[in-house]
Amino acid sequence: MVVNSFNSYLKERFGRKLYKISLDAGMTCPNRDGTLGHSGCIFCSAGGSGDFASSRLLSITEQIDQGKTLVQKKFTSKSDNPCYIAYFQAYTNTYASIATLRKIYMEAAMHDDIAAISIATRPDCIDESIMKLIIEIHQIKPVFIEFGLQTSNETTAAYIRRGYKNSVFADAIKLIDSYNSAIVDPLEHIHIVVHAIIGLPGESYDDMEQTINYINSYPIHGIKLQLLHVLRDTDLEKEYKKYAFKVLSLEEYADILIKLLLHIRPDIVIHRMTGDGPKKLLIAPLWSGDKKRVLNYINKCINETSLNQGALYNKRIEG
Ligand code: SF4
Repeated sequence: MVVNSFNSYLKERFGRKLYKISLDAGMTCPNRDGTLGHSGCIFCSAGGSGDFASSRLLSITEQIDQGKTLVQKKFTSKSDNPCYIAYFQAYTNTYASIATLRKIYMEAAMHDDIAAISIATRPDCIDESIMKLIIEIHQIKPVFIEFGLQTSNETTAAYIRRGYKNSVFADAIKLIDSYNSAIVDPLEHIHIVVHAIIGLPGESYDDMEQTINYINSYPIHGIKLQLLHVLRDTDLEKEYKKYAFKVLSLEEYADILIKLLLHIRPDIVIHRMTGDGPKKLLIAPLWSGDKKRVLNYINKCINETSLNQGALYNKRIEG
């Protein structure tokens, strides 16, 4: 069965919907600690792109319990008995000693209400020893690994200070795939998710389509598409104020998104079609702060496409 939407994938893989709990495991990032630079990616907030996570002063268990309370208040009724994905989101979550990583991953994996672990990291921060640990964790609870590729255009990648070449991404995928190759059922693989940003300064539609084609060419399992947000106190904010580069309108974003969705390899799970930057940090585009309106508009556009295309889109985003 071809699985497209994240919720369809979760039903297939886990038999139910899962809720994500964002965690801050107290990491840093080579783009911030001076190894590659001090300022981080140009768009990255002080929270290391983990602004919805709990306080790093809390233990992983305490953060999970706090996250559960929030999810239960917001999304579920008492009878739901929800299960969760422990999402190591803030900063680079493989950038520590094996002992530290083992402790935090294990704490999440052993939690009764956690059904899976998602690890956001960089392709230059993964190696054989980390993969051996991840395989160990994967035998306890399924693991997702998320890479912020953002673009395949090396010029844009240098501008946003991504800090690694595409070849490093290729090597990391090859490494994970070498472990996945030993797992017979593809549904049981370590699920690799790649992030791409729509609307990076200087990028044309062709650049974005090229990024999708590039991602399609690798044995990855999921994609997160994200509108470029200009957030407060980032270098991108300074660039935006200095050069007033164009940010996308909702209509432009939906148009590009829908075209890109058609280019994504059909087996790749669409984890996200946009994102909502934290409202207190959002500088532009301000329309993106109204998540409900954005999703309604995108769904309306999808429904207005031709029957076949609409069916494809709906299949991909259902739920
Ligand atoms: S790699 Fe991630 S955490 Fe590090 S600066 Fe870039 S976006 Fe922020």
